[in-house]
Amino acid sequence: MTRTVYVNGVYMPEDKATVSIFDRGFLFADGVYEVTSVLDGKLIDFEGHALRLGRSLSELDMQSPIEMEDLLKVHRELVKTNSIEEGLIYLQITRGVASDRDFVYPSKDTPPTIVLFTQNKPGLADSPLAKVGIKVISISDQRWGRRDIKTVQLLYPSMGKMMAKAAGCDDAWMVENGTVTEGTSNNAYIVKGGKIVTRHLSNEILHGITRSAVLRFAREAQMEVEERAFTIKEAQDADEAFFTSASAFVMPVVEVDGRSIGIGTPGPVATRLREIYLEESRKVAV
Ligand code: PMP
Repeated sequence: MTRTVYVNGVYMPEDKATVSIFDRGFLFADGVYEVTSVLDGKLIDFEGHALRLGRSLSELDMQSPIEMEDLLKVHRELVKTNSIEEGLIYLQITRGVASDRDFVYPSKDTPPTIVLFTQNKPGLADSPLAKVGIKVISISDQRWGRRDIKTVQLLYPSMGKMMAKAAGCDDAWMVENGTVTEGTSNNAYIVKGGKIVTRHLSNEILHGITRSAVLRFAREAQMEVEERAFTIKEAQDADEAFFTSASAFVMPVVEVDGRSIGIGTPGPVATRLREIYLEESRKVAV
């Protein structure tokens, strides 16, 4: 079935949607994005994603082509038209189409490009992988220094996923100056003696919307949380590990660099946090 997508104010079939070869997103990865999940046909954590989008745009001195209320309308319309019960909405905004290839930004009146499309993922919440957990390898973090901005320059994370795949694993945790920054497309956590440890916020990691919600739910459930960097050795010696992202929610990690975490199965903290996150965010989904 052909999807209906949204390009620069117009809903159209995916095979009719095109973007110029001079688009700054294509030539310079000069663009930002968001991924919002859909459960029961409703958007999860929409406000958080919209706020982060605004911040990413302003950090790059980029204009928004759309008001936030209209953005919600477009998300909802795409969910409805494409009959998405469980899945994802991808949104990308770039600095638009310059008249030629030039490192210097085009003039401020250049309209940004905005694209949204849906990804249908039946069974997203009831993921079989979450029941067994995933395996990660560690790789050195070779991304740029402003990882707090959600840009579309995802080549290194993509290479990281391929390295993980080649090693028979599911993902890679990136390490810089001896500590884990984050996963290729998620925030990383360990649990030791009941305490949840995850890296503190800075320019070194993306400020995950799921991270923020999960830490809030953990604290509300009287779980202890420490926001600090941790090493791969600590992860291997932890009782549990997991990651969070809008597309996988809370995902248990059962192996790091070939060493089982705990008894090598999803731990009680990750399992409980996944349940709480799904339950609570469904209640306030829009
Ligand atoms: N870190 C990175 C590098 C990511 O790409 C993502 C997901 N896009 C995350 C963390 C998780 O963020 P969120 O919970 O907002 O999906």
